[in-house]
Amino acid sequence: MRYPLERYRNIGIIAHIDAGKTTVSERILFYTGISHKIGEVHEGQAIMDWMEQERERGITITSAATTCFWTQVREVKKAADDSQRAKLKKEKEHRINIIDTPGHVDFTAEVERSLRVLDGGVVVFDGVAGVEPQSETVWHQADKYKVPRICFINKMDRMGASFENSFNSILEKLTPYAVVVQLPIGSEENFQGVVDLLEKKAFVFKGDHGENIEEIEIPREMVGQVEQKRARLVEKIVEKEETLMEKYLAGEEIGLDDLRRVLRKATIDNELVPVFCGSALKNKGVQFVLDGVIDYLPSPLEINHLKPIKGTSPRTGEEIIRQPSDNEPLTTLAFKIATDPFVGNLTYFRIYSGVMKKGTYILNSTRNNQERVGRIVRMHANHREDVEEMFAGDLGAIVGLKGTGTGDTLCSPEDPIILEGITFKEPVINLKIEPKTKADQEKLGLALRRLADEDPTFRVTGDLETGETIIWGMGELHLEILVDRMKREFGVEANVGRPRVSYKETVRANAEAEGKYIRQSGGRGQYGHVEIKIKPLERGKGFVFVNQIKGGIIPQEFIPAVEKGIKEAMDRGIVAGYPVTDTEVTLFDGSYHEVDSSEAAFKIAGSMAFQEAAKRAQPVILEPIMKIQVITPPDFLGDVTGDLNSKRGRIESLSDRIMMKVVDAKVPLSEMFGYVTNLRSMTQGRGTFTMEFSHYEEAPKNIEQLIVEGKK
Ligand code: GDP
Repeated sequence: MRYPLERYRNIGIIAHIDAGKTTVSERILFYTGISHKIGEVHEGQAIMDWMEQERERGITITSAATTCFWTQVREVKKAADDSQRAKLKKEKEHRINIIDTPGHVDFTAEVERSLRVLDGGVVVFDGVAGVEPQSETVWHQADKYKVPRICFINKMDRMGASFENSFNSILEKLTPYAVVVQLPIGSEENFQGVVDLLEKKAFVFKGDHGENIEEIEIPREMVGQVEQKRARLVEKIVEKEETLMEKYLAGEEIGLDDLRRVLRKATIDNELVPVFCGSALKNKGVQFVLDGVIDYLPSPLEINHLKPIKGTSPRTGEEIIRQPSDNEPLTTLAFKIATDPFVGNLTYFRIYSGVMKKGTYILNSTRNNQERVGRIVRMHANHREDVEEMFAGDLGAIVGLKGTGTGDTLCSPEDPIILEGITFKEPVINLKIEPKTKADQEKLGLALRRLADEDPTFRVTGDLETGETIIWGMGELHLEILVDRMKREFGVEANVGRPRVSYKETVRANAEAEGKYIRQSGGRGQYGHVEIKIKPLERGKGFVFVNQIKGGIIPQEFIPAVEKGIKEAMDRGIVAGYPVTDTEVTLFDGSYHEVDSSEAAFKIAGSMAFQEAAKRAQPVILEPIMKIQVITPPDFLGDVTGDLNSKRGRIESLSDRIMMKVVDAKVPLSEMFGYVTNLRSMTQGRGTFTMEFSHYEEAPKNIEQLIVEGKK
């Protein structure tokens, strides 16, 4: 069945670890799996079987994008028989794609890729703890991308749960725009159901899994509170639209449709955030969150922060704008590469415009190669569905693409476009990892390959001479988690070194040098002789080799060997053994011997010449500088900036975000070890930060000395 775009929702369930994201997701998949059965007899047994089976097999909620269907409770309640239900399905059923969001928010890469493709979020809180520091991090990330949100205060059944306190912590710590749309009936062990404030109706959840929703009378002791909270909600809504405001002030009753329409618009515009409550574990309230997703979160047609999607033409460099429509040329973003135990390599994509058809060729415009769409699958909770085509606004996965990476644009070959990619920064931190046994060596190899496939910011290098494996990542925590996964998921036992900063070296001046490798006494001789010039290049230019040899002073066949020798010397560094970069090397003279010259001799000569030249060219160490953003309550701003200054940081801007101060700064990576803990203690646990690589910069002399001595 083809769903019109306005009946699509692409959402993420966003939560601090332990708030109940997994339980909420499971319940969503459960209720959506049986949504068409609500009200049927005998369903109890069927549901049980389904749940048992799923429990054994493990629901694929770890899939990067899972699809499900939902018709709102109030609509289902209107349908009296099967034929009406069938009609309802046709007219009101929505397709909800749930995009997996990382529980850890410390790697911008993971967060960015999920926030890039989702249109709205359900933020889950623990009803006892309310807003926790980690939930603040996620929240501010979502603020940055202007993702419309609704909130779900979960665990209302837990001892110590308080809707009021949790809601107030959202108001105080996250957003003044939060509005209560539901009230809990009872609390802790007496938590029974919810009152919908707009409808002024109370509901309880019956059946083994809360699948039967029954309307009850609003408990007498709640009537006053319901009136009062509803009035406040209505006020907040009518403020958003002048004509409604006028009606309201004139004392007119505002209809439900108007209230919902304006609350929807305000939520999508990030001006209001509806707050729901329930207990996923006790099967209470999750269905209404799904109703809320439909009522208040945007369809792909309404996403303000993306609409219409922009890109550039790879042919002309001009800006191209695509509308979210099937009639536009195909424009998709590959947002995650994963390995599926059954079908192998899966490339998850989101279609912004056009239609993706099985069996066609598409262009990977980021890498300029063609790919064939052999198989398109849609991931459901309990199975994988092969589909012939997919449409604008949708999410799915292609099986078996070879040359596509995370963040690449896949598009129509006739109308190429490049979307802004998901940019991944250079991994600037590394550590040594040493398997304990031969068996671990093999497991490690497999684990590293798998993890690197999934995570574009994770790299592995091996040192053939020492047999050492070095892994590279974006930050301390990133490597910590990868090492943990290696141990837990792949059972690798290994010794792990301390994380180290990936320094580089470069030269600051021009210099010349000669390299001679001549051995001509006894046996076969060796003869390699080169003269080179080196010159500093701008940051980020890497290594450039220029060959100015004319007239065969050095035969052409030996030139690549010279270059290779130079490269090897560069990798070993001059100052402290870090790779040399941003340097141009020109080979301009030399000589050879008819018999004794060989590639090996020229390689050594090249290497010797480079080492000598580099020493004369004022070599220096480059250190990675990170771009960091700290979000802190205003009270701690002074401590945070003072601390950054003492870390050789440069504060670039101070700004306000809802209830928080935002500090943008550049700080050398070597100063940032342990900053998570550091910041926590400085801000009573409320400060959060993100960090990504910015650029390499010359290290000051005193720091260089420490690096050379191995103290930094
Ligand atoms: P995640 O880490 O956010 O995915 O959280 P989980 O869904 O794994 O839940 C963390 C813990 O909280 C588990 O022990 C759940 O059983 C429990 N939990 C989740 N939802 C509820 C709830 O509504 N009430 C109670 N009492 N516990 C819950």
